[in-house]
Amino acid sequence: MIGQDVAISRLKRLLGEDRLPHALLFFGQDGIGKRRAAEALAVTLLCDGRSASGTEPCGECESCAAMASGNHPDYYVIEPTQPTKNGKVNRKAARLIRIEDIQNLRAELSRVAKLSRRRVVIIDDADMMNEQAANALLKTLEEPTGDVVFILITSRREALLDTIISRCLMMPFAPLTESGVMEILAANDVPEQERAALASLSGGSAGEAIRLYRGDALALRDDAMDVLSRARAMNDEAVLGEGKRLGSMQRDEISEWIKYFRFCLMDVMTLLCGGEHLFSGDRRMELLDIAGAVTESWASRAMAIASDVEKRILKSNANTELQIEAMLLRLAAL
Ligand SMILES: [Zn+2]
Repeated sequence: MIGQDVAISRLKRLLGEDRLPHALLFFGQDGIGKRRAAEALAVTLLCDGRSASGTEPCGECESCAAMASGNHPDYYVIEPTQPTKNGKVNRKAARLIRIEDIQNLRAELSRVAKLSRRRVVIIDDADMMNEQAANALLKTLEEPTGDVVFILITSRREALLDTIISRCLMMPFAPLTESGVMEILAANDVPEQERAALASLSGGSAGEAIRLYRGDALALRDDAMDVLSRARAMNDEAVLGEGKRLGSMQRDEISEWIKYFRFCLMDVMTLLCGGEHLFSGDRRMELLDIAGAVTESWASRAMAIASDVEKRILKSNANTELQIEAMLLRLAAL
């Protein structure tokens, strides 16, 4: 694990002292190693022959072998999915954790462990549980069975129910340093001459840096910035055109797009407040142009509108075309 020394040593201390609670919440931005840390913890918790300190898996027992093969009967991963119909995934639907996912998990947990002394459940992107799923999970957390450890993961802790948060031990994960991101880029075979620029664009997220490297993310970011630069001058016809174009994107793509749209607004806000660190530092001139044409109050209201729409696009099956149209109309009228 690169760059998460604080969180990792805290976990090792809890493990070593046998004080690990039955529910943990790993939180911090995307792409910084929360899921990897959760998987490593799961391997350790499930291992039968742990090292003398109790904090490292043996790598040799039946449980470690099952984890290595990706097929451990006492290990469950719940993550958001898009619904399928007639065996086909609906790529335009929101990615969610649904009540059935939690009900299936509860049914599994009602049986005894098959291989290890414990069971481990990872709930990744826990903020993507819909309300019913969250309430069902809460019930499960309230009636803990001794041998189950839950590891919830989120990059949007504020979107979780307080009642769930209060049942978990908080484990913050910090953004990575630029050198940490560069190290991970190197491990992912990103050419050396590109690493520094990607790391500085990544906002401390190796996942983001890798997405930017692959290129699609950059194109979406540039598109979002272009729309933002025109947002105040759009007439109804232009709004409808953009709504149609963006509304035809797959859900994953439009989810990324709206995130970058919000990032661009954040950068505009940063410039207006005299701040230095930009997400899109490579597009400072364009951002300065946008910032020069708006006020701080416009930018802050625009950001509220954009994050509201982002939430809807992420968490509901709201029609994305209508959402984008409504957003652009509101921005043009601000
Ligand atoms: Zn083992």
